[in-house]
Parts: sequence; C-alpha cells; structure tokens
Amino acid sequence: MANYDYIVIGGGSGGVATARRAAEYGAKVLLIEAQRLGGTCVNVGCVPKKLMWYAANIAHTLDTARHYGFGIHGHDFDWKRLKHDRDAYIRRLNDIYVTMLDKAGVTLVRGFARFVDSHTVAVDGQHYSAPHIVITTGGQPVLPAIPGAELGISSDGFFELEHQPQQVVVVGAGYIAVELAGVLRGLGSEVILVVRRDQAMRSLDALLRDELMTHLRDSGIHIVTHTQIAHVSLNPQGRLDISTTPDGVNLTADTLLWAIGRRANTDQLNLAAAGVNCETSGVIPVDEWQNTNISGIYAIGDIIGHHELTPVAIAAGRKLAARLFNQQSQSRLDYDNVPTVIFSHPPIGTVGLTEAQAREQYPDIKTYTTRFTALYHALSEHKPKTAMKLVCAGSEERVVGCHIIGEGADEMLQGFAVAIKMGACKNDFDDTVAIHPTSAEELVTLR
Ligand SMILES: Cc1cc2nc3c(=O)[nH]c(=O)nc-3n(C[C@H](O)[C@H](O)[C@H](O)COP(=O)(O)OP(=O)(O)OC[C@H]3O[C@@H](n4cnc5c(N)ncnc54)[C@H](O)[C@@H]3O)c2cc1C
Repeated sequence: MANYDYIVIGGGSGGVATARRAAEYGAKVLLIEAQRLGGTCVNVGCVPKKLMWYAANIAHTLDTARHYGFGIHGHDFDWKRLKHDRDAYIRRLNDIYVTMLDKAGVTLVRGFARFVDSHTVAVDGQHYSAPHIVITTGGQPVLPAIPGAELGISSDGFFELEHQPQQVVVVGAGYIAVELAGVLRGLGSEVILVVRRDQAMRSLDALLRDELMTHLRDSGIHIVTHTQIAHVSLNPQGRLDISTTPDGVNLTADTLLWAIGRRANTDQLNLAAAGVNCETSGVIPVDEWQNTNISGIYAIGDIIGHHELTPVAIAAGRKLAARLFNQQSQSRLDYDNVPTVIFSHPPIGTVGLTEAQAREQYPDIKTYTTRFTALYHALSEHKPKTAMKLVCAGSEERVVGCHIIGEGADEMLQGFAVAIKMGACKNDFDDTVAIHPTSAEELVTLR
C-alpha cells in the first residue's frame, strides 16, 4: 500500500488545480485519472466548444464584411480541417497537463479509482491511502430513456463529428444546447432546436431569455417549443425520423444532438465502501467547506451538482488545498456572484440575481434597462440588438445583478463582476467615466 497526504480522484479542472496547489504547499499528492487529463473542459467542453464558437463567429464576420467594403460573397469552410487542428491543439494541452503535474511533484496514476474504505482507494488492484481524499470526478451527458435515443449523439459526440451535419435537431434548453445550436447554424447547418417548455435558458433574467429567443430565431434556427422527443428511428435513406410529443410532429434530420443534462460520475467509485452519501442523481452533497458526510473526504466541481463551471471547480480546489495544507482554516469558496457567460451568437454575460430573484429577496428593487444597435452593426442590413439590465437593491441602489446580451458581452462581464463582488452601487457605475465608443459604456450611463 502506498501512502500519501492527499489523494485526488479525477484529473479535470478541479482535480488538477487542487493537486498542484496542495503539492506547492508541500503535501505528498496522488492524482488518479481514468481518461484524458484536463477532464470535460479541455477535452469535450469549454476549450473545443470555444474554438467552434470562434469558427462560427468568423463566419458571421465574413457575412458582415461586405457591408464594410470587402468583396467577400460566401465562403468555403472545411469542418474536417478545423476538427483536425482542434484535436491536435487539445492533445498538446493533454501533454502540458502531464508536464505540469510532473513539475509540481504530483504522482499520476491512470485508471478508475474505487473506494476500499474511507482512507483507501484501489486502482487496478493497487491500494493507495491518505488522510485526505477529494472526489472531483465531474459528470457526463445523459440520453433519454426513449426508443432509438442511441441513434443521437451527446455533446461528447458533437466533438467527434468528422463532417458537418447538414440538418440537425438539437434537443435541450440549457446553455450547451443553445451554444452548439448556434455554432452549427453559424457554420451553415440547418438547425431545429426542440425545447420542453416555452423558452431556452429559463434560469436567466427575463430580458436575456426574450432577447436570446429573438436572436436564435433571427439566425435561422427553427425553435419547436413545448415539445419532447418520443421515438427515433433510422429510415431507409439513412436519415433519422424523429417523432415528437404531444403533437406527434415528425422531424427528419441527419443528426440528432441530445443536450438534456448531465449525470455526476459516481457510479464507479464504490462510495458505499467509504460511507459517502450521494443523491440518486449521483451528486455528492457537501457543506460550505466542501466536506462530505465522511471526515477526511471532500468533493469539488461538477460532482457537487451546482455552479458547474471550470473556474468554480478550480477555485474550490485551490481553496480546499489552502485549508488542508497551508493552515488557512477559513479558506473556502464563496459561491455568491459567480459570473458566467453563455457563448451564444451574440454571447450572454450574467452575474448576480435576476430581477425576479431580487424581487423575492429585497423589498426595494430598481432596474435600469437599455436596448440598442451596437455601432458594429451600423452599416449592416441586419441589426441585432444588444440589451443590458442592472438590478439594484435598497435605497443605496447596490447592484445585485448585471445581465448583458450582445457582441462583446463575454469579455465585458469580468470587470463588472469584480465591481459587483465588491458591493458597487449604481452611483459607482455613474461615477465611472465611459469608454467611447463601446457597448460597455452603456452600463455606466444608464438612467
Ligand atoms: C459542452 C460543454 C461546454 C462547457 N463550456 C464551459 C464553459 O464555456 N465555461 C465553463 O466554465 N465551463 C464549461 N463547461 C463545464 C466545465 O467543463 C465543467 O464545469 C468542468 O470541467 C468541471 O470540472 P471537474 O473537475 O468538476 O470535472 P471534469 O472536468 O469533468 O473532470 C472529471 C475527471 O474525472 C475523471 N474520472 C471520473 N471518474 C473517475 C474515477 N472513478 N477515477 C478516476 N478518474 C475519474 C474523468 O475522466 C474526468 O477527467 C462545459 C461543459 C460542457 C459539457
């Protein structure tokens, strides 16, 4: 049996971050990874997704170019080449992770970890023990339990596509569905988005939801609302027949993409041997210190079932390492005001409370909203709108929510999130001189 100070199960965003930080503090660390280092984000999440988003953005820019005097009419696009170059970049990242762990002095073991008891895990028959074990095994996409579901692909399958699908049905209303539908449409596929209720991204502020639906439709995505998929089959032409409920409408496509949710990766961990509780969804509940119900076993990242974002997993992992190995007994992640971006076209940036949430929490709410055509679109025929909302609470008008949809929202939000995390009020925004001409300046000139 090999003994360590800290065993990290899972080499994704959270696992690599907490392992490296703990090793920096002098702990003897073992990291166990079953598949490719970097986890979801690097291999089948943020990174390849953002590269595809850039590709779709370039397509949009090429469409706009003629309005700026360029003689560009149509363009060739080579999906296979983009995928090849994207995969090569990700393989380089995988190698960089190996080097980073090696340099930090973290021992890497490849394979699936299973608990033997609350201080011991086994990988391929080898036992490893530590007084501190963190579970950071993330999640994976789910398919629905309907006939023919396996004829569709998940977001993982999207990143394996060697050829651009021509007609795609995307099922789901969350950010992965919206983002991948936007990429496919931007690159020229015909896209039908099927959502179970009336809108996509129902957790967003109403302003963003409404604007997003308009942008999706204006981009040419056909949205089918209040609909679920009942049955999928392969027809003699090799295409998918997709029947829906409740109306029984039949859709046909060459690709069906499920983006209906993810399941936490706990099934293979043998949590019972350690006595760690988990919900039926696989999620491991933790307290505000990332402690599970078993002393010495912690969980961070997607496995805890909320704030499923890479920087959250990284920050929680680093804070935990500081608490366990650097005498920072109060070190823990504050999950309030976590900013997030949805890489739709155009992107969405959002932090803090929606207007509806703020009205539930505060008696006195004031909102400031704007909707305008960004200067970038001044010369184009199509004039998509940028929209912004500040949600302010109390007589001092503390900004408790900031919601943006429009070109640049992704890069704009980070700085505003700092201000909001610091407790900025509307008059702090007003006292900040605008940067002109930008879209961001609208946020400091709202009346
Ligand atoms: C399509 C998509 C797009 C996304 N885009 C963004 C984005 O733009 N921005 C953002 O912030 N987040 C994004 N995310 C979310 C982000 O990828 C996750 O929040 C993040 O990867 C979570 O990190 P983690 O460490 O909790 O888990 P993961 O990164 O999933 O890592 C878990 C690791 O554990 C390993 N593992 C599982 N079981 C075992 C076991 N028993 N033994 C050993 N190893 C095991 C897995 O192989 C995996 O490598 C996206 C996700 C998806 C699916």
